[in-house]
Amino acid sequence: MTSNTDTVLIVGGGPVGLVLASFLSLHGIPSSVFERSEGIPKDLRASTFHPPTLDMLEQIGVTKTLVNQGLICPTWQFRDRQEGEVATFDLSLLKNETNHPYRLQCEQWKLATALDALADTDDAIDLNYAVEVIDIAQDDGGASLTVQHADGSKSHHHGRYVIGADGANSVVRKSTGIRLEGTTIPELFLTMSTDYRFEDAIPNLANIAYITDPDEWVVLLRTPTLWRIMVPTDPDASEADMYDKIKQDARIQALCPKDGIYEIEHSTAYRVQQRVANRYFSGRALLAGDSAHLNNPLGGMGLNGGVHDAINLVDKIRKIYDGAEAESMFGLYERQRRQVCIDTVQQQSIRNRKMMAAKTPQERKLFHDDMRAVVADVKRHHEFVLKSSMIASLRDAEAIN
Ligand SMILES: Cc1cc2nc3c(=O)[nH]c(=O)nc-3n(C[C@H](O)[C@H](O)[C@H](O)COP(=O)(O)OP(=O)(O)OC[C@H]3O[C@@H](n4cnc5c(N)ncnc54)[C@H](O)[C@@H]3O)c2cc1C
Repeated sequence: MTSNTDTVLIVGGGPVGLVLASFLSLHGIPSSVFERSEGIPKDLRASTFHPPTLDMLEQIGVTKTLVNQGLICPTWQFRDRQEGEVATFDLSLLKNETNHPYRLQCEQWKLATALDALADTDDAIDLNYAVEVIDIAQDDGGASLTVQHADGSKSHHHGRYVIGADGANSVVRKSTGIRLEGTTIPELFLTMSTDYRFEDAIPNLANIAYITDPDEWVVLLRTPTLWRIMVPTDPDASEADMYDKIKQDARIQALCPKDGIYEIEHSTAYRVQQRVANRYFSGRALLAGDSAHLNNPLGGMGLNGGVHDAINLVDKIRKIYDGAEAESMFGLYERQRRQVCIDTVQQQSIRNRKMMAAKTPQERKLFHDDMRAVVADVKRHHEFVLKSSMIASLRDAEAIN
């Protein structure tokens, strides 16, 4: 049994768990992180960092590392399969609000890798891979975990609080009875990646493009090495059909015809949910990131929102360690981050999906006209990018007390 009355136990060493540990350490608070996988998975998941996230990560010195490995994107756009460019949004309008007036396209594993390197040289962070947390308990004195190791042996760990940064199937959430309320989106999201240079083939294409279409919307996202193509997919299709290279090629050819078949380097289909936990804490157990909320990736807000949760929560824990009352601090964390998640992340991501798939010509015209009017008016344009970059939601959270 390891025990330190000040330690914060963190279940999950994904990006949110590692951000929690790094920011706790910044305030002299020790943590132990328990991660089930053997190392950092390098699969393609989130790839967008919004301006305020980059500003926050500057405090622990990782923003420069990400910027050096990422693609700076000062603009992003809405397009339409038939009409082409609809509206291009300019993040340089945020230059007085942020040190990073752009979206950074950079794979999420690069953040986890940078944080893992920080943890390696930091005595306040005890990072354990290949260990699965199988049980969580709490009492007036603290929280404890039972951890199963790769060889089947078990160990027990005790600390002051436990944070579930353990993703969609969070054991911390389940141990508390907190419910993840909401819905599952009827289609799967299929992501394919290729090194084909869409920027040379599609006129005026921004590095991030949401392409509306009544039959098959598409997202095109450029990373430093590849383009990712995301399309909705029938959940009843067989895996063989979904991953068939010829069928995948046909879907990309329909968007951008070219000679020869598209070389698809990776593809994944994943189920997307719109859900928010009914509570963000129970006693000494707290939730942050995907354990507390899930949303579709249209807008790139899941990972960013998780990082914002982590930094907000660390600020509350720091105040508790300085003498503030825990229940009221955790209550404030819940009110701020849960409200913002419902009002902004859920609403915006649901709206984005609706706009992408608008069926009738009237609906599509309304949306396109509105987007064009937004970019034509500098005040509306500025307000729009404040929202889409998640700066407005952080300000809204600050105003909640
Ligand atoms: C396949 C896939 C594709 C995605 N694509 C996109 C995208 O294109 N754009 C986008 O914005 N978002 C995307 N997302 C969402 C984005 O990846 C998440 O929002 C982000 O990873 C959340 O970070 P997190 O640290 O909260 O959770 P996670 O990244 O899920 O990390 C949780 C960690 O906890 C560990 N863990 C879980 N249970 C235990 C346990 N009992 N014991 C120990 N460790 C445990 C897991 O191994 C994992 O490493 C995708 C997600 C998935 C699953």
